Amino acid sequence: MAKATTTIRQVLTYQANYGDWFASNQALFNQVASFYFDVIQAHINVLDHPNKEALTILETLTHTTQRNPNPVMPLSDIAKDIPAYFRRAAIHAALGSAHSFHSHLEKWRQRKEKVIAKGKKFHQRPPVPPRSWNKSVVLYQGMWKERTENSMMIKVWNGTCWSWIKVRITGRELPADVELGSPQLIRKGTQWWLHTPIEKQFQSPGKIEKQVTTNAQTKICAVDLNINENLAVCTIQTVEGTILATTFMKGGQEISGFRKKQLGRIARNRSLTGIIAENEQDNGDLWKKIRHVDEQAAHLISARIVQFAKRHEATILVFEHLENLRPAKGKYSRRSNTKRAYWMKGRIFNYAKYKAYNMGIFTSRVSPRNTSRECACCHSLIARYDAGQPAEGYTPGAPLAYCAECGMKGNADRNASLVIGQRLIERYHPKEKPQALRRVSKDTGVVVSQDAKCEEGPSILPSGHGDSNEHGTAQDAMFRMDEHASNIPTQLRFLF
Ligand SMILES: [Zn+2]
Repeated sequence: MAKATTTIRQVLTYQANYGDWFASNQALFNQVASFYFDVIQAHINVLDHPNKEALTILETLTHTTQRNPNPVMPLSDIAKDIPAYFRRAAIHAALGSAHSFHSHLEKWRQRKEKVIAKGKKFHQRPPVPPRSWNKSVVLYQGMWKERTENSMMIKVWNGTCWSWIKVRITGRELPADVELGSPQLIRKGTQWWLHTPIEKQFQSPGKIEKQVTTNAQTKICAVDLNINENLAVCTIQTVEGTILATTFMKGGQEISGFRKKQLGRIARNRSLTGIIAENEQDNGDLWKKIRHVDEQAAHLISARIVQFAKRHEATILVFEHLENLRPAKGKYSRRSNTKRAYWMKGRIFNYAKYKAYNMGIFTSRVSPRNTSRECACCHSLIARYDAGQPAEGYTPGAPLAYCAECGMKGNADRNASLVIGQRLIERYHPKEKPQALRRVSKDTGVVVSQDAKCEEGPSILPSGHGDSNEHGTAQDAMFRMDEHASNIPTQLRFLF
């Protein structure tokens, strides 16, 4: 069994004065946590024990009971009547900070020793214990009750006493069949949120290596990420090489155009003022717009990729490693735009990775070397060209691909995604090549015309591409897949 954790974030609605209560509740929590941090500093050996034992030791040191009438550092000195579970949550927060601080300190000492042993001077400053505390309150069992879909009772310190208050919960619902963790009260601006960690158990599909070597029907979703119009091109193929589906996720032009416009505005504004204040973000609103659009697009596309993989029952997702950023030439807006498009590729990968894992799909990466230059059928070098141009040479970023060796003709990004998938399979089957790939030969290659293909069903591609010419089973499979794939709207809608 494997498990996936994620956090459900929900907005709380409550009476106006509760906002202040939550604030004083959090202030008290941090006061108690800070107190326990000091207790730990005074009894540093506590950190050698596992958290559960450490908790008991710290309670004996601080908590007054009949059996323990005179603790060394009584908590009642700073606050009376702290509920046990509030105290324990604060102790765990303090233990977390103390562990972190001391491991940093230990690493700093080791670095210092090393440098001094070499006879050099060591200038780095030691880490310092937290100067201020701003932890969010964790609600342990006993600090909340009667949780329903849209309301719950929470026990808070309102500044003068402890009281149970009722709050309404709106936003994403908690999914069924998950294990709930302790919720946290989080402040965002003036609004309070409830963050609930959830844990889901699922049957692990097994290591990628095992999946690829033991089952020829394992489906792999290979993704080619681009900075042109086709932001992501995904193909599903089985380990034995049958191609089952392709989808194109478009919208690159729109994002790129939007981003470039904003960057141009920033550049103009900067040239008007002439100076940029140090340590201060200029054009905050424009940067914010750009950031939000990038973030939204990365989330949309990564979610789409995982949905597509899931729909076709793929259990492995494969990307290529990011190549080094090749800086673009030209104006500021163009250079920055390319850079941000490149960053977005990395972000899409990161998001897709965790989203896929939550669905029980594993992610891998392969070498990006020549993925867009290699023919997916015969592995010789392809020509890449624009529509209307002769099929020769290599124009980076051009949409069409042609292989002079085997006659393959098709979309260059789709070809690249096929190559990416094959790389993963080849990693575990180094000698034999996938079967479907060997079948295509020069004399049998039939080029499907653009028009003919459009009639087959709702085309995924509105313009400017042929498709590859795998014949026989592979081709039938390819048309079958169009029916499935058409359910997914390929045009992403960005609201800006
Ligand atoms: Zn070829």
